[in-house]
This record gives sequence, structure tokens and C-alpha cells, in this order.
Amino acid sequence: MHDLVLRGGTVYDGLGGPGVRADVAVDGDQVTAVGEDLGPARRVLDVDGLAVAPGFLDPHSHSDPVPLMADAQPFKLHQGVTTEIVGNCGFSFAPLDAATIEAAGPLFAELAGGVPVLPRDFAGYLADAQAAGPTNHLAVLVGHNTLRAYANGMDEKLRPGALARMCELADAAFAAGAVGLSSGLIYPPGSYADTDELVALARVAHRWNRPYATHMRNEDDQLEAALDEAIEIATRARVRLQVSHCKVAGKANHGGAPALLAKLHAARLAGVDVRGDQYPYLAGGTFLNALLPGSAQVGGLDAMRARLVDPDGRKTVRAAAEDSAYPQGFWSRVAPADVLVTTHATRTDVTGRTLAELAGTADAFDTLCEVLIADPGAGMVITMMDEADVRTIMVDPLVGIGSDNGPPVGLQHPRTWGCFPKVLGEYVRERGLLTLPEAIRKMTSAIADQFGLAGRGYLGAGAVADVVVFDPATIGHTGTYAVPDVRPTGVRHVLLTGAHVIDSGEFTGARAGQVLRG
Ligand SMILES: [Zn+2]
Repeated sequence: MHDLVLRGGTVYDGLGGPGVRADVAVDGDQVTAVGEDLGPARRVLDVDGLAVAPGFLDPHSHSDPVPLMADAQPFKLHQGVTTEIVGNCGFSFAPLDAATIEAAGPLFAELAGGVPVLPRDFAGYLADAQAAGPTNHLAVLVGHNTLRAYANGMDEKLRPGALARMCELADAAFAAGAVGLSSGLIYPPGSYADTDELVALARVAHRWNRPYATHMRNEDDQLEAALDEAIEIATRARVRLQVSHCKVAGKANHGGAPALLAKLHAARLAGVDVRGDQYPYLAGGTFLNALLPGSAQVGGLDAMRARLVDPDGRKTVRAAAEDSAYPQGFWSRVAPADVLVTTHATRTDVTGRTLAELAGTADAFDTLCEVLIADPGAGMVITMMDEADVRTIMVDPLVGIGSDNGPPVGLQHPRTWGCFPKVLGEYVRERGLLTLPEAIRKMTSAIADQFGLAGRGYLGAGAVADVVVFDPATIGHTGTYAVPDVRPTGVRHVLLTGAHVIDSGEFTGARAGQVLRG
């Protein structure tokens, strides 16, 4: 007698195999059989006409504080996502102490979505997340920005002993269960690091057989050099490499997707276990201060605010920001109309409006400075990509799907609520760019394998019972940049280690997620 049988659906294995009409038996937390005539069950779900797939894994999430929110947050379950990998772009929520929170606090506040950012070691964060009851599973990367802020504050140059301290902290994080190392090399203080510093940390990851996921140093004019650096780090440290949110940013660089993919494929042929992920949008979302060069933030966000308040300081920052040869900061590569302010700690009158709208006839750079002075950690959505590049990257077999979501509160990029259904609705069903088996593979095994999550990412006997049932004819997301927090259509059932957490499209309220330790 099985616990549950999903009867009559079209089953996708997550490995790219074609859909097969079959029943799926679940016992406890495992899938125990896939086939016909599986015998009696205590409960039968009729899923005739629906797709049955492994639960999706989101390799690029910023949901670190979400388990600690008071209420359950089913925004990923409604997309069919059963596991999120958090701690991306160099920002993990541990290890943190009071001094680090003081120095880097506003950055974490923007990511935190109202959850208090507390001093914790890595094991303590994992324990607190588990105790709070995550709404879906969570696997956690340890972030280079966090390690560097902890060991070296917001200084540009490393203090004596700081790198050794960062390596010790990384080692402790891997011992506690971090599933990999992340970097975010456009964000201070991580952006102050040289390649050797990252190799040293990635070598710690190698000792634990954990991958390195990177938001590279550049995604526009210097994209190829940034890829070379990521590949060099993976080669020298002998780690698996995940290139985060693969994109070609900046109008002058549009059409560059084939060159990006050629680098990935060449590295693969040279023996580097490299893959990437991508979100299906023309806009990214990040800190508003990413428009400024890294030099603006030396010493922390209070120091940045002081520079912007001082007329001479602002002049220096502006000169660096307007210098298109300067390696960091988006200012010279976008128009003010392409920048939508999404979150702000104190001024609700600026959110939901572009910098061009906010400036009117005034100077847009000065307007940016005023907004940042009022909240140095404000957030934005920024349009930088080209649809042809998005599609070229999407059809590449090395690139999976990852959302890059923020916390599910307030105005956020629509990817937070709709990334996965958008791929399945728009790029599979409407445009026919991907087959359904291939899209599912990009959301499942292609991610689980790279992050070492054994037992997940495929659907067959012996797999963990993380399962999504959706309607391929209706799955999709209608959220926009103006109104992003729309519930997706088409996801009917989700099982989380056998627990039925989305039933006929509705969240059951169960906080059945687990912290998955590496
Ligand atoms: Zn990033």
C-alpha cells in the first residue's frame, strides 16, 4: 500500500528524457516507483493531462532571510520550486558579527526584506533557518563579500592575516554544511579582491568538493575578461564553476552572447566543470549604488554617503562614474530612463519611478546622489539586456534557469514571483524556443548536479519526493515591472519530501522545507 499515487500524468525525468504517461508512487519522503499498475494507495491524485516533474531547483536565490519571516512564504512553491540555493553574489547572511553588520549593514538590510540582520556564525544561521521552518528547501552558499567584510571591514586593501581568517571562516562554513562558495565581484568589498584572493578561498571549497558560483567582475564591456578570470579561478582551485545570471549587458555589447557561450564551451573542453544559469528578462535588479564605481564605497556606505554630500567628493565620484573606461559602476552604460527605483528605506515617493522621472529637468546624477544619501542601500530594476542574447543563452545546454529573486515584499523584480513559469509559458509554449523536457532539465538535474544535491533533480524510483505537477497549457506569469507580485498560473501540486504543500493550486500552510547541508 503506497502512501500516495499520482495517477495518469505525463512524467518528465528531469534528465531531458521525453514525457511518458505513467503513475508515480510516493512512500514517506521518497519516490518508490514510476510506471503502470503500481498497486493500491492510501491517497490517489488524478493528474491526467498534467506534467509531473522533479521539483525545480533555483540555483540563484537571495531568499536567505525568508525562512526567518513570521509568515510562510510560498512564492517559490507557486512556481514549482522545491529547493533554493541562497547566499549568492557573495552575500551570505553568515558569518556576521556586530562590527560587520555595522560596516555593511545597509546592503544586508536591502536584501533582508524587514528581517533583522543578526550576528551569527554559519552553523547558527543554518540552525535558525531550520528551526524557523522554511517554506521550501534551502541550500546555502558562503559568500565572499560576507567573509571579506567580516575579516577586513570595508577596506580596499587586505589587512595582515585577513585572507587566512577568511579561509578559516570558509572552512568552518563548509564544515557546517555550506554547499559552495559565492562571489559578487561588482559589489564592495568583494570587488576589491584580486584573483589570487579568490583562488585561495576556492581552494578551501575544493577541499570540501564544493562548487564556486560567481557574479563575475563584469557583465558588459569586460565580459570576456571576467569569464577568463572565473575560469582561471576554477582551473587553479579545481572546483566546479557556476557562472551566475549569464547575460550580456549594455547596448554597445549586445550580440555578445555567442562569445560568452564560446568561452564556457572552451573551458568545458579544457576540463573545467562549468555551467551557468540565467533569468528570462531584459532587466536585472540590484542595489542602486551599483550605478557608482566601487571607489565610491571605500570605507563603507556611511563613507559613500559622506562623499555624495560633499560637493568635491560628489564631483570625484561623478568623474569616475562618467568615465566609460572605468571598470565598475553602470552609470555610463545606461540611460536614467532605464533605471527604476524599487526599494527605499525612507522615501516611498521615489519607488516605482525611474531616475529620469525623478530628475525631470534636473540633473539625473544629482538626483541619484540625493536618493542614495537618503538610503545608500536602495534597490533598483535596470534594463540592460537584449532579447536576442537572452534567447541565444537560453538554448545553450550548459545554462540552467535561476531567478536571482529578492525577498517577496514590496516592489521587486517580477522574477521573484514568476521566473520559472515565465520560461515554461513564454519560451516553451508560446515561442517554442525550448522543448518541455529540455526546459525541465535546465530547472532540475542541471542544477542539482552542479551543487552536489544527490537524490534531487530527477524523477524516478529512489529520488527524494520533491515533485511538481503543472499544466503545460496554462503555466505562466503575467507580472510586470510595475506590478510584479502576481501569483503564477498553472502549478497545481507540489510535494516537498513527500509532504503535499501546494494542493490544487493552493498553499496548504505547511512549512515543510529543510536546510540541505553539503
Ligand atoms: Zn548577482
